[in-house]
Amino acid sequence: MSDWEELSTLDARHMWHPFTQAQTAPLPVPIKSAKGAVLTGADGREYLDLISSWWVILHGHGEPAIAQAIADQAAELDHVIFAGFTHEPAVRLAASLATRMPDDLDRVFFSDDGSTAVEVALKMSYQYWRNKGEPQRKRFLSFDGGYHGDTFGAMAVGKGSGFFDMWEDLLFESQSLPYPATWDGDNEAEQKEQEALVALDGYLAEHGGETAALIMEPLIQGASGFRMCRPQFVQAVSERLKSAGVLLIFDEVMTGFGRTGEMFACQKAQVTPDLVCLSKGLTGGFLPLAATVCREGIYEAFLGDSFDEAFSHGHSFTANPLGCAAANASLELLDASDGQVEAIQARHRQGMDELKAKASIIRPRVMGTIAAFEVEGGEATYGSAIGEKLQAMFLADGLLTRPLGNVVYLLPPLCISEAQMDQAYGGIAKVLARLD
Ligand code: PLP
Repeated sequence: MSDWEELSTLDARHMWHPFTQAQTAPLPVPIKSAKGAVLTGADGREYLDLISSWWVILHGHGEPAIAQAIADQAAELDHVIFAGFTHEPAVRLAASLATRMPDDLDRVFFSDDGSTAVEVALKMSYQYWRNKGEPQRKRFLSFDGGYHGDTFGAMAVGKGSGFFDMWEDLLFESQSLPYPATWDGDNEAEQKEQEALVALDGYLAEHGGETAALIMEPLIQGASGFRMCRPQFVQAVSERLKSAGVLLIFDEVMTGFGRTGEMFACQKAQVTPDLVCLSKGLTGGFLPLAATVCREGIYEAFLGDSFDEAFSHGHSFTANPLGCAAANASLELLDASDGQVEAIQARHRQGMDELKAKASIIRPRVMGTIAAFEVEGGEATYGSAIGEKLQAMFLADGLLTRPLGNVVYLLPPLCISEAQMDQAYGGIAKVLARLD
């Protein structure tokens, strides 16, 4: 039995994979190593990682500067309890994130992954109003299609994504509003925005004074099919929330660190929210780490003479030094990067034109390093037959994509070369031709 076969047998015997129906799914592909944009299987086959391994790899797999920073940090300080203690990598990272954020978003609370960054933001918003003497503000708002993670609070505000019907009975009350998903060349964008804003106005008129916060993925909803909206819409939402005194949480777990073309989507949308959730690309994709960044005024509401006002929340691995060292190294690389996002964006636009000329794709959309389109005749439902079929066809051709139903998207790491982008778009065109 080869190592590869032995691994597959052991995996089938012991492993439980995420978001997978094990009875019908193909066997998972054993991966041995990764470099740049390429994953190498245990059998030597190569796969072009067009989704940055669930959107986490920022620069490229195996980025030497990050690997070295982690190794150096491991030799110095592996971990230390973060209540009552602190350390240089965390302090430097918090200061560095604050510098990159819009003014006043100065306070950083570390946790472990995107879901915990969201839980922290929700709990902070809820307690903020209790500490301020407005305990009636307990409602949460979100948008249809918004996905914020798999923990209970994140599921409650992510109900509109359709992923969590199983747990409906256990989720706290939250209202999901219409989202004006748009694409390049959409003539109805403004009309959809107006309809969504009317729904928001209606809700705020009735319940604004009982609402703690609205959470949204700014500009791009990832998991529900890379559904984009215009900066104008995000600005209009922010203005209305400000008037109603409702906090605005930006879930930038996917959009953060340059993916939309600016460091953060809040900068691209020109909106300063009250809280921002970060994870995924934070460490360049090497280690799990998350941050919830909030306005100084929110932090101040938790100061007091007793522990009652304090934020009673923390994780064993809060501000893990290895994760922070990786993030610091990643941010330095991001500072030094020159034109990669723009080059990828331009190639995406060209790729969309090529695909439109050759195949029947609909609703093409491009923003920063992200491109998506839909295949006619399918649904954007996770686990749908068309998505699984497409994924298998791409994989057979050495392309790692993970279509969300009929939505095919690309979100490559920054290191992807022109030749690899040609390979990606050429491969997609071939698969679509076989599908027609
Ligand atoms: N928020 C957004 C916008 C996401 O895309 C995700 C994951 O895809 C999460 C939160 C949850 O992150 P994690 O899977 O790291 O818990």
